Amino acid sequence: MLFSELKLDPKLLAAVGQEGYTTPTPIQARAIPEVLAGRDLMGCAQTGTGKTAAFALPILQHLMTRAVTGPRRIRALVLVPTRELAAQVNDSFSAYGRHSGLRSAVVVGGVSQGPQVTALRAGVDIVVAAPGRLLDLMQQGHVRLDAVEILVLDEADRMLDMGFIQPIRRIVSTLPKVRQNLMFSATMPNDIRALADTILKTPAFVAVDRVAAPAAKVEQKVYYVERQKKLGLLLRVLERPDAFRVLVFSRTKHGADKLARKLRVARVDAEVLHGNKSQGARTRALDNFKRGRARVLVATDVAARGLDVDDVSHVINFDIPNEPESYVHRIGRTGRAGATGLALSFCDHDERGFLRDIERLTRMPLAVAG
Ligand code: AMP
Repeated sequence: MLFSELKLDPKLLAAVGQEGYTTPTPIQARAIPEVLAGRDLMGCAQTGTGKTAAFALPILQHLMTRAVTGPRRIRALVLVPTRELAAQVNDSFSAYGRHSGLRSAVVVGGVSQGPQVTALRAGVDIVVAAPGRLLDLMQQGHVRLDAVEILVLDEADRMLDMGFIQPIRRIVSTLPKVRQNLMFSATMPNDIRALADTILKTPAFVAVDRVAAPAAKVEQKVYYVERQKKLGLLLRVLERPDAFRVLVFSRTKHGADKLARKLRVARVDAEVLHGNKSQGARTRALDNFKRGRARVLVATDVAARGLDVDDVSHVINFDIPNEPESYVHRIGRTGRAGATGLALSFCDHDERGFLRDIERLTRMPLAVAG
């Protein structure tokens, strides 16, 4: 899927392009249409999934397309647990909204309130706030929230852990009753469900897999290599004595079959795992790989989900995944249970954009091999 398929305003698409994003992450692909349609949303996702853009983009679109006359008023309110997250979310609004003409401001404790009050007085459309300081400024008469159309509770579980439930309830009680509500939480304990029940109206529910930071024990490298030279490179990697259990990822089922065939021709014991195989064939393939009868398993992302094989020495991205999360899932298949692992990505010219998306998501540049 491409961002251009998401029915976003060209000004937002331009900004997204300037950020270097090519494909929406799963939470973006699923949440953005719901929010654009005006629905309430419960998003179960943690940092690193791209959740900020999942709410910031449709909010910006809403505010741009439904312009109001008169002085600027706060039309979107985002509550966050910490000063750091507030700054990050506000930066995202600035970046994605750079062509929108909309303005946002941060309201957080731990710093002097003067500049924040000045910013509010100048007029803003979006406020990103920590609940404590916001309540403070409301009580001093510096903030009016009677024009809020969209409320976001970001990292709701952390806000509750930090004891913000009362401030949140008091802030929410002052908002207009008719509004859109979005809530994001990494976990869904009972108190979060209860809060969701009181705030959200028939919400859409979107949950995405945990995307952990890549395991610290996985060494990651990228090879810049032409497509037709990838097989030769793979065979060279397989000659190394430490490459004893190698999981190779292919973007397509067809590609996985073709690669396994070529490996067998080169006398490498290779199994294939993908969704078109019967359950029996899949179990057999996995078993041969786990027991070391086949040194290589060629798999697609879907087939490898949840795969738990100890001691995978190498994960090889024969194709660079077009969804950055897949990368984190893939390389999580090595370096398990305290073992060290090596993740090698074979990147041809056309895949460089995907690689940049990955580096942005993991916030880690990949070392170039060779
Ligand atoms: P978040 O989960 O919102 O904190 O985002 C995590 C990181 O992913 C941020 O550094 C974003 O800039 C980046 N990011 C968000 N959406 C995308 C995307 N569609 N493609 C690549 N990177 C993204």
